[in-house]
Amino acid sequence: MTDRSDFLEQARKLLGARGLTGDAELMEPWLTDWRGRFTGRALALASPASTAEVAGLVKLCAQHSVAVVPQGGNSGMSGGATPDDSGEAILLSLRRMDAIRSLDPQARQVTCDAGVILQNLHDAAEQQRLRFPLTLGGKGSATIGGLISTNAGGTQVLRHGAMRAQVLGLEAVLADGSVFDALTPLKKDNRGFDLKQMLIGSEGTLGIVTAATLRLLPEIGGRVVVWAGLDSIADARRLLLHCEDRAGDALEGFEVVPAHCLESVLDHLPDARAPLADRHAWNALIELVSPPGEDDRLRALAEAMLGDAMEAGLLRDAAIAANETQAEQFWLLRDSIAPAERAIGPAMQHDISVPVAAMPDFVDSAIPRVERHFPGTRAIGFGHLGDGNVHFHVLAPAGAKRGEWEASQGKRISAFVHDLVTEFGGSISAEHGIGQIKVDELGRLGDPVALSLMRSVKQALDPQGILNPGKLVPGAAATTG
Ligand SMILES: Cc1cc2nc3c(=O)[nH]c(=O)nc-3n(C[C@H](O)[C@H](O)[C@H](O)COP(=O)(O)OP(=O)(O)OC[C@H]3O[C@@H](n4cnc5c(N)ncnc54)[C@H](O)[C@@H]3O)c2cc1C
Repeated sequence: MTDRSDFLEQARKLLGARGLTGDAELMEPWLTDWRGRFTGRALALASPASTAEVAGLVKLCAQHSVAVVPQGGNSGMSGGATPDDSGEAILLSLRRMDAIRSLDPQARQVTCDAGVILQNLHDAAEQQRLRFPLTLGGKGSATIGGLISTNAGGTQVLRHGAMRAQVLGLEAVLADGSVFDALTPLKKDNRGFDLKQMLIGSEGTLGIVTAATLRLLPEIGGRVVVWAGLDSIADARRLLLHCEDRAGDALEGFEVVPAHCLESVLDHLPDARAPLADRHAWNALIELVSPPGEDDRLRALAEAMLGDAMEAGLLRDAAIAANETQAEQFWLLRDSIAPAERAIGPAMQHDISVPVAAMPDFVDSAIPRVERHFPGTRAIGFGHLGDGNVHFHVLAPAGAKRGEWEASQGKRISAFVHDLVTEFGGSISAEHGIGQIKVDELGRLGDPVALSLMRSVKQALDPQGILNPGKLVPGAAATTG
């Protein structure tokens, strides 16, 4: 192990006692990802309070060849924010940088530090009768920097796009400690490469995001949430097209839930009730929104849209949430699928996408192929049909032991699923990123030309390989120190 005392002394001088700790107890909660899949070690936990401090620290790391693992809320799904077990890397937390620098209600723009928690951004926007159009289950801990670095999705991508679409400007510290300042939002800017877009979704491997300017939208006036019962996922796709056609911009979300998932959730949540009287092979959760003052018009639109869909044979039954409480209950059923599945037993989870039009064929063919190949398992696909993104889970045979089953079968199952996704021209990571969990699979299945480009970009921006080594870019050279 290299002697790092000189480096640590300089880092402490730069960041002060509050900004740097090597205390094992203080570091411990941040060295394991929230799902408990990865645990690492770190030389120290750095918590800078400003962009200048991040820049100073990264410069120091570059001089001493010390690896840097950026971390926001540690709510990521791919182990991207967990260092390896060498204990040689600095864990760089952005959580202390949590200021909303400015919010301009007229321009509908907000500039905030990377450590701002998503829920806090929602609250700040709401106070100005605005909204930030991206949300997800981890909103109480996910930070703006983490959301940008993973190009996070969520339930509103259908209408508003993923995080990439929300970013108007970006500030980031590069691998040599220089500050890339592109915070000013310009509607038109043709000075060559859009470098901020390269940093978005780069999972801390090309730079440390320190601030961003984000777009805001006017607040929602009303919403209509619908639970519909369907015969097949092909019908769900047809219903989606019908809703897009009829509701246009009012359509904010379209999620699919197979019967098995709904039944698991009803078992899991003691007070929950099925929205429809009969069991349906598939269910769709549809959300429409309108500007203030248009609630009645929106409800009439929803009723006409559903009536026509029923007549056309696209759905069997549907319930419109009578009020906000019931709307929340419908969403709770959707949001409880993952915890309900976890309570049943072990599962291998895959966040995948295929072209939206191919999704019904993918689900209908992948489920029986997986279940035949791995006898006793049950495969399910649920989630963001409107984005061509389902969470494809393979549940273990009854009685399988948690931990043991994943260790013995997990890699084979995931490789099988990823091969199927590749066959359909899809992506092995729709919204959760690559991190460390999928880096080998990206290396195995990624297009060689794209992989080579990724390595070239990484080499150009981080020649020493100090930024989040071992994550995202298969085969990238990493710092030894
Ligand atoms: C209950 C729950 C539901 C979720 N649902 C969704 C969902 O629907 N869709 C979805 O996309 N995600 C979802 N997530 C995952 C997660 O919230 C997102 O991936 C989020 O973007 C991670 O933000 P974070 O601040 O926690 O980042 P972290 O987990 O701390 O880090 C994630 C990655 O970004 C890097 N990073 C973090 N901050 C920075 C920075 N400032 N600069 C450079 N790199 C950085 C890290 O090194 C790591 O590679 C969910 C999580 C939970 C807990």
